[in-house]
Amino acid sequence: MQVYFDADADLSLVQEKKVAVLGYGNQGRPQALNLRDSGLRDLIVAARPGASADRAAADGFGVMTPSEAAAWADIIVMLAPDEDQGRIYGEELASNLRSGSALLFAHGLNIRFKLIEPKEDIDVILVAPKGPGTALRQLYLDSKGMVSLFAIEQDASGSAEAIALSYAVALGSGRAGIIRTTFAEECEADLFNEQAVLWGAIPELILAGYETLTEAGFSPEVAYFECVSEVKLIADLIHERGLAAMREAISNTAEFGALQGGTRIINADARTEMRRILREVRSGAFVQDLMKDAEAGYPRLRASRAKAAAHPIEAVGERLRKLTP
Ligand code: NDP
Ligand code: MG
Repeated sequence: MQVYFDADADLSLVQEKKVAVLGYGNQGRPQALNLRDSGLRDLIVAARPGASADRAAADGFGVMTPSEAAAWADIIVMLAPDEDQGRIYGEELASNLRSGSALLFAHGLNIRFKLIEPKEDIDVILVAPKGPGTALRQLYLDSKGMVSLFAIEQDASGSAEAIALSYAVALGSGRAGIIRTTFAEECEADLFNEQAVLWGAIPELILAGYETLTEAGFSPEVAYFECVSEVKLIADLIHERGLAAMREAISNTAEFGALQGGTRIINADARTEMRRILREVRSGAFVQDLMKDAEAGYPRLRASRAKAAAHPIEAVGERLRKLTP
């Protein structure tokens, strides 16, 4: 696998382009700020009237509507929520995008599942930073960078790859590494991971462990320290050393316990379920469910947020986090 760095790209390529960042949320704001600090001058934010537009203006950016921005920009960066991108593209961008311009995504979902079928005379590029926007910005300010994946779906200009690398470098990713993928691979792996590992499975595992202890009469504080607080320690160790060497930092008792317990929880049934999740992602069934909930005003998402916020673990966590800031 080839990894690209600052030296492999020409930053001046995007510095000389008119760039519109559409959306000023979790990704939009950090990306726009990093681009400006990387010397982009013809840089605006595309937003509808409201909080995001106001915030972008307060940060010193010129603001255009999405349709104005599409007509003006050489590169339009699509950083609206995934569920809204299809409508925004269809209603505001498609008829305004100039031939030879580039549409750039931070996630492959709308292209992979054909919620957007871009016109043929534009470049379609993916630059996906592998982490949240807050970290993308902080790493940049610390003269470090966040790894980004990149992919090309359409190369109408003949320089889509050079633009992708140049853009990733402007985000700071050339200091860490820029890795080639495809829209399908980035999207499917990301949607799988969200459900089967990171945001789906790990919180449920934490909660199930916490509930098992408290149901058995353990104090909520002890259960919280064991099942929640220590997650940070293992995450840091895996990040710094990898899975195998992480075990060197734990006691023999912990290591032997891991050997006994780990595969009883993540057993053959759990792996079968993971494969089923991957199939639902790849067939488009998951994206259909997502869009259905979005169109109805997110009843399932809102119910799940309310349920999580009401769980007694939140009050315990709030108390304990004050002890260990
Ligand atoms: P957010 O929900 O944080 O931000 C979305 C932005 O889009 C807001 O500024 C919102 O403005 C704006 N917006 C919504 N609808 C419209 C519209 N109709 N017209 C104009 N602007 C609109 O989204 P994220 O930053 O989390 O996600 C953006 C993209 O980045 C997604 O593709 C996501 O998959 C990807 N991504 C996100 C990561 C993250 O850190 N969250 C990590 C990597 C990729 P308003 O205030 O007007 O609603
Ligand atoms: Mg994601």
